Order: sequence, then structure tokens, then C-alpha cells
Amino acid sequence: MLIFCSGVQSSATSLLNIATKELPSSEELMLQVHALLAKVGPKDRKFGVKARLSGALNVTMTFIKQNLQNPKVLLPCLQVLRVYCTNSVNAVSLGKNGAVELLFKIVAPYSKKISSLPKVALDALGSVLKSKTNARRAVDGGFVLVLLSLYVDWHRNDTRHRHMLIRKGLLVCLRNVINIKLGRKAFLDADGMKILYNTSTECLPVRTLDPLVNTSSLIMRKCFPKNRLPLPTIRSSFNYQLPHVPAAGPVAQLYSLSPGVDDVVDESDDNDETEADTDTENEENEKDDGNTNDDIETDLNKLHPQRKLTGSFEELRFYERFFLELSGDLHVLQVQNIMGSPLIKERVSCAGPIIVPTAQPPQHVSPPPAPLTALDLDSIHLTEDQNQGSSEGLDQDLGRVSLEEGGASIRHILGEICAHCGSEGAEDEPGEGAVLEVPDTALLLPLHDPDLYVEMVKGTKSVPQYAEVAYPDYFGHVAPTFREPLLERVYGVQRSKIFQDIERLIHPNDIVDKVVYDLDVPTCPVIENNGESLRFNSQFESGNLRKAVQVRKHEYDLILNSDINTNHYHQWFYFEVSNMRVGTLYRFNIINCEKSNSQSNYGMQVLMYSVQEAIRGRPCWVRTGSDICYYKNHFARSSLSTGGVKGKSYFTLTFSASFSHKDDVCYFAYHYPYTYSTLKMHLRKLEALRTPQIYLRQDVLCETLGGNVCPLITITAMPGSSSTDNIYQLRNRPLIFLSARVHPGETNASWVMKGTMEFLMGSSLLAVSLREAFIFKIVPMLNPDGVINGNHRCSLSGEDLNRQWQSPHPELHPTIYHTKNLLQYLAHIQRAPLVFCDYHGHSRKKNVFMYGCSLKETVWQSNISASSTELQEDLGYRTLPKILSQIAPAFSLSSCSFVVERSKESTARVVVWREMGVQRSYTMESTLCGCDQGKYKSLQIGTRELEEMGAQFCVALLRLKRITGLFNHQHLVDMETEIMGSICTTTYVLEEDEPDFLEAVDYSAESNDDDIEPENEPGTDVPENTDQLEAGQTE
Ligand SMILES: [Zn+2]
Repeated sequence: MLIFCSGVQSSATSLLNIATKELPSSEELMLQVHALLAKVGPKDRKFGVKARLSGALNVTMTFIKQNLQNPKVLLPCLQVLRVYCTNSVNAVSLGKNGAVELLFKIVAPYSKKISSLPKVALDALGSVLKSKTNARRAVDGGFVLVLLSLYVDWHRNDTRHRHMLIRKGLLVCLRNVINIKLGRKAFLDADGMKILYNTSTECLPVRTLDPLVNTSSLIMRKCFPKNRLPLPTIRSSFNYQLPHVPAAGPVAQLYSLSPGVDDVVDESDDNDETEADTDTENEENEKDDGNTNDDIETDLNKLHPQRKLTGSFEELRFYERFFLELSGDLHVLQVQNIMGSPLIKERVSCAGPIIVPTAQPPQHVSPPPAPLTALDLDSIHLTEDQNQGSSEGLDQDLGRVSLEEGGASIRHILGEICAHCGSEGAEDEPGEGAVLEVPDTALLLPLHDPDLYVEMVKGTKSVPQYAEVAYPDYFGHVAPTFREPLLERVYGVQRSKIFQDIERLIHPNDIVDKVVYDLDVPTCPVIENNGESLRFNSQFESGNLRKAVQVRKHEYDLILNSDINTNHYHQWFYFEVSNMRVGTLYRFNIINCEKSNSQSNYGMQVLMYSVQEAIRGRPCWVRTGSDICYYKNHFARSSLSTGGVKGKSYFTLTFSASFSHKDDVCYFAYHYPYTYSTLKMHLRKLEALRTPQIYLRQDVLCETLGGNVCPLITITAMPGSSSTDNIYQLRNRPLIFLSARVHPGETNASWVMKGTMEFLMGSSLLAVSLREAFIFKIVPMLNPDGVINGNHRCSLSGEDLNRQWQSPHPELHPTIYHTKNLLQYLAHIQRAPLVFCDYHGHSRKKNVFMYGCSLKETVWQSNISASSTELQEDLGYRTLPKILSQIAPAFSLSSCSFVVERSKESTARVVVWREMGVQRSYTMESTLCGCDQGKYKSLQIGTRELEEMGAQFCVALLRLKRITGLFNHQHLVDMETEIMGSICTTTYVLEEDEPDFLEAVDYSAESNDDDIEPENEPGTDVPENTDQLEAGQTE
């Protein structure tokens, strides 16, 4: 192969030499040489450079100019020209010599006699126009209009679609021209949107024309004028004044921004388009950067676990109180176990009357307390209730009544709702609704209790002072028994959605553009409603809808609120919809998503909860939504929210849904909601599972910024007796330290944690063994404030708490500060946990998997020179994931990674590994979507599977214990090596929570179009047609 290549190269060189000798009478020879060059050139990586150096570019150009009327000569010359242009320097140089104008002379309108000339000319032109100077030349020469007219001409006349490639070639030229701002402007001025929209619409029925539709769609998307999000500011609608503002970082920046600044858009619409006229030959040497990643930690000093105990032991002694089982005697434990947990005994301070939806007449509404925050939500309810004395919908009849009326009346009241529904609404169960009641889910949901839930809500403090309870959290969720397969992507769905978006521009008269919900307007959410619009609400725990705009009759743009004290992090959503029409398909677009891709493109549906269904005995969140897809939209994103990166756009998550019941109240969520109040309710119910054999303690670890308590749970077995042996065994049980929900949007982590805690409190033999084997320390919710206030990623401090573990601030990051101190205390008394695991949710991968920390694997990945053979490392970190992959169907070993990344140096996993010396320190990531392997392959994940995962995590610990208990250390290493088999199978994953998505947002998934470029930022050139382009010849 090598010899062949070098042969090709030398022949190309000699041919070029012949070509440049310019023998006057050698027209035939020139023709032959160009024919040969056209064949040889593409195979030679350096062909473009050689051609330029040998002066062949001008020779070819001159030859073309002399033979414009001679197709036989033109053909090979144009082919060679096309190859020249794969080198960007050549393209610029040829442009200066008039190549653009020359080629436009050859490209012609449709005619019956068609040679292969126009196609090759277009190919060459397409290559020439990749250069931005040439694109500008084309714009200045008015060629955008020419290209569009030519395209329409061919579109009209090529009725049998025999000349797809020519039509495609025209579009490729256009696409390259609109890479520059002037090109986009010229395109819009020439009415390009309408032209391409109309031609594409006509092409849609013919599937073979997909490449044309796709390229047109790409062009239209790039030219679609950037819009501004209809918001006054992208800062969260809610303000929480921090006790002090960090000195630097995004929060500091946010606070330093003067109030008058428009942060919604900036001058980032277009990149500056400076032409790269410089020679790019050295790009060819830059190609082998594919395998290195500068995020991998390469500093061995940082990689070596090193105990770093901040704070004196005297300070850490404070945490002794959380480890009674390590020091206290049996009597103390027994008394405590009988008296109940400190957390539970703590008086919950009631923030004010809590209002839950009931059917009571509105006059029972208690006056709300004086609001402390800017947004006066309680009085809004009052207004709403007064205005809607005679209302028609279920949700309107559900006045919001203070719970002080007493929880007992709720069931009765809901019975009335049912009567109402039966007579007016539900077509499936006429008249008999009256007998329906709130489902008694006590058997199905042993840890759920609506009354207790409301009781818990009273102690939950939210920044907006939420006074409502969302029905799903009140009724509870029973995992459905039916399977919920990953949604199969409908052919062309993204394209058709994008076309609908483009229609907004083309048919502006169809646009309603009516704001139906707006947190930023003081009267929100009372928006005048003629009954033709859906009604939205999101003012309850974990809700985060900011604005809803009715775009067309049955289509809504939705905007999510930013995390408090930030101006972004939109992904999680939870909101209520009512006033729907039965059987109508509504389209919902969440238009300010930020991630460049989503599992919504790969089978993940949203979740919906219907109150009418709940009343009918099916209280469950179900996967729903059709026509789901996720794509970059035309709303500009300010560089203030991107860390300074300009020219970014938001993404749209679109889905369509219809409703089965009239007068229903439905909820949509990104994933199964799990509020802080739900956690408190579950913890209460766990107390009921306590037996004399189970030691359960619930402590208040600390208070959050928002004034909510952060629970710390201890579960182990009571010692059998007060014998020295028994007490000794208790005190020496290894500790397992678990945490979850540092990221509020990852509700699945809470469901996994629920599974873990419920299993540990269970009566199974495995649970008994687990309690006897270990002491479990659990912080089930590391970020209560974030969860309560509907944040996706951050705490009230506006920061990602899982990036604060290196030096957590006691005031700004109390839960992390104290959890870390607990671990440091343990390390101090030589009782560092056997396993530390922080539960997370993963939005862009399937299955459940773990990230761990391995010095050796990191060194291998980073290719740093240190000889890895010198490094000693126990392979124990691999045992637990391996066991999990054997027993937990959702768990996938191949997705696990044990590489330590720099960007993760302040995460729980890395800090606990490095500073506390915990070898088995993990992040466990559960998919938000579903599985692509194992028993649950091609199914979406549900709460049952998540809870099962939590239980199986415990079972795996027991196996780990058996392995580690039987052997001494060296044996253990051998044993684990044996279990592991080959250990060189690490998949390096770029980012802990959102790795670069491998499945790009591609259009090619919908066609065989090989000419589609991956999604890229405007103004960025990407290589395409790699079969024609030589590697490394990127522009
Ligand atoms: Zn996470």
C-alpha cells in the first residue's frame, strides 16, 4: 500500500511537471495529463500543495479559459480543479484568478441535452466556494440569486428527477455561500427561505429527493434569523439573596452585572468572519490529536491518593454525635431506637398555611402570610379564586384551600370532583364517577401517604413560597405494569418539525403568539383565557415552567426557568396543563434547552400524569409523547450564559401529546418527580419499618441555605446482646457511605436511593445480613434547596455542588461541607468507609453504570510517560461494578469508567478517593432514558427498575463482603483479578454527567445523503465528503 501510494505521489509530481511545461502545441497532451491528474490527484494527500508549488493552478485555469466552448477539454480540467480546491489556500488563490466567475459561466440552466459538465462544474464551484473569500466574491457578484434561480429552474424542469446530482450541486454551492453572514443576508434578500421551503415541500413526497430536502433544510436553518427569547432577563425569575457572594466565578459575574444590561441577547449573532488566507499546510500534521484528551489528569501527585485532612480533629469531633453506634453502648442505642430518630422528633416549623387543590368553595381560603419574596404567589391564588367563581373546568373548580381545614376532608372532596367528572367529562365512565375515590394506594405504595405528604410540605421552605401541592406528589405514583418500550423514531420527524418552525417565518399570519403563562408578569398565572388556550401552572415544589406562549392553535412554546442565582441550566421540567380538548394533538416545544443532544432523539419520552386517571385508580406517571425530537433552534443564546462563547443557539425539545379526559389536570415532567417533601414522607414511613432488630437513626446533618434540614440516615442491625463480642462486632462493622441527588434534575437518583433504603429496612434475609455486615450512612438528598425550587443542576448558591468537594464553604455549601467532614471524621478515626457511592442520573447515556477512580487506568489513558508497571494498585475498585453487572439487569460494565479527569477533581467521587483514601469511591449513574442491553433492553426505565437497582446495589455489597471477608489482602487482589478477567476494557468517558454524545444530531439518519455535515456552529467550516477530501485538508 505504501509503495502504491508513493508511486501515485511521484506520478502526480511528474504529471504536474509535464503540465506546467506549457508546450504550445500540446493541447492533446495537456488534455491527457489533466485526465490523468484527475485520477491520480485525489489519491495524493499533498496533491494540492504540489500543484500550487509547481504552478499548475494557473496553467489549468488558463487552459480552461481557452477552452470554454470545448466540453471534452473542460471536463478533466474541472475535475482537476475540484481536487486543487480541497486545499483551502488553492481555493483562495483560484478565486483571485477568477475561478468563481469562470465556473458560473459553465454552470447553466436546464436544457434537454445534458452532459456531465454542469455536474463537475458545480462540484468544482462547491469546493471553490468553501473559501469564505470566494463565498464573498459570489455574494458580491450577485450569484446567490443566480444559484436560487438555477435551482428553481432545474427543480421545475427535471420532472423525472434524473439530475438529482446537479440539483444537489446547486444546493451545496448555496450552502457554502451562506456560511458567511453576507451570504445569509443575500439569501434572505433573494427570498431564499420561501424558495427553498416551497421546492422542498414539493420534494417531500418523493423519498429519493431526501438529500435535496435535507440540504435545503440545513440552509434554511442556518439562514433563519436569530430570535430573542421572549424574556426580560435570563436570570431566574426568583431571587435568593446569598449571605455572601463568591469572589469569582459565574455567580460573582451574575451579581456584578448592572441591572440595565440586556442579558437575553448580545452581539453574538454571528462570528466574525475573518478569512483564513494563510497557508494551512501544517494542518495535515495536526490530525493525530484524536486520541488524546487534555481533561485526563496527568499529574501523578494529584493522582496518588493522599490524605488531606483539613480542620483539626477537635473540630471534627463535633461529628462524633452522628456515629453513636461506633461509640455508644447498647443501652443508649436501644433507648434511642425506641424514642425515634432526632430528625423525626424535630418540630417542623410551618411556613404558613399550605394550600392543596381541593373542590372546596374558595371562601375558605385563609389569608396568605405577608410575602417575603418578590413574587406574591399566595395573593395570586386569591385573585384567581375570586375571579373564577363559576368556572367550567375541573382545575378551576378545584379551589385552593388551606389545609388547615383538615386532611380528613380531602378524600370526600375528591369524591365530589369525581361526581363532577362523571357527569360532565369522562366519556368512558358516564354517570358512575361519583363512586370513585382517591385510589387507596396504601397496599401498592407502602411508603406513600397523601395526608402525611401535605404535612411534610408544611415544613418545606421554597424561595417562591409555594403554597400548592401538585397532584402527582399528593396521590403518589404506582409504577405501571405495562412495558414502556423506547420510542421508535419516526422517519423524517425532525425535518417536519423544523419545517413547521420555518413556516412561522413564511406564513406569519398563522401565528397566534399569545402568552398564556408568565412568571415574570406580576399577575401570573392569571392570563385572560377565552377557553381556546391551554392553562399552565408550575408553582409547586420542583416545578420550573417560566413562560408559555401559544404559537399556533394547538402549539405552545415553553420556556424553563433558570436555576436560582444563575442564568441557565435548563433541562429538568415539571408543569401542569389543564383546559385541554379531548383528542386534540397538542405540540409542545421547550425552546430554551442547552445540551447539544438529548436522549429524546433516541427513544426517551417525557412523563405525563393524569389526575382523572389517578382518580380512576391508575395514579401513575406514564411515558408519553409522539413526534419527539431535539434539535438546535433559532433562538440566540447570550454569551453571558455560555461562559463567553458567542454565537450559540438554544435547542428545542418538541413533543406532541393528546389527552383522553375532559376536565383533566395533567402534568408533564422530564423524569419521575421526587420532591424533598416526598423524601421526608418516605423517611417518616421508614420509621414504621423499624423492628427491635433494626437500628435506624435519622439525624439532621445540617440546615441548607434555604432553611431546610438535610437528613442523615444510619441503618444497621442492633447487636444481638450486650456481650463484648456483639458490641465489638457492631463497632467494627465496615461503613458504607451513600449519597444522592446532589443534582436536582436527576430525580432517578432519588428513586434508586428509595430502593436502597427500603431494601435495607426490609425483612428479607439479605437485608438482615446486610445490616449485620455493615453500618450504612446515607445522605439521601445532598441538595434539598435545588430540588424544592425546581433547579436542574445547582443549589441556591448558583453553583454545582458536585464541584465543591475540594473546599466546600460552610455557609454556601453546607450539605457538602458537613458530609465531607463526616467522611473526614471517619478517616481520622481510621474508619473510612469500605464503599462510598454518590447516586446520579445520566441524561445522555443508556443503562446504569459507575465511575470510579483508578490511578493506573488514568495513567494508561493519558499516555503520560510514567511507566505504569511501577504503579502498584489494588484492583478492588473493579469488584463492585463487576458484581453489579452480574446481578443487576440494568447495569452495564462496558459503560463504566475509572479514569480521573481534571474537570472532576472536585467531585465527591474523586475527593473521597483521593483525600479520604477510599479505594471504592464511585458515582453511580442511572439512565434517564432506558436500556440497550440486558433484561430491560429497548425499554425505557421506570421507577420499578430504578428501585430495583437500589436494592441490587445492596445485594452486591453483600457479595463484596463475602469476597473481601474470606481472604487476606493478597488473596483478595488475586480473587478480584480473577473476577475481573481482562482489565483493559475501560471505556473512557469524557464527562461524568454528560459525555460528548457519540450519536451526533444528524440528518443523515433519515437518508442516505452522504453530503450532510454534522451540526456545527454558524461560521465554522467542517470537512465533508470525506471520500473525496483527503484527510487533514480541513479548512
Ligand atoms: Zn449528576
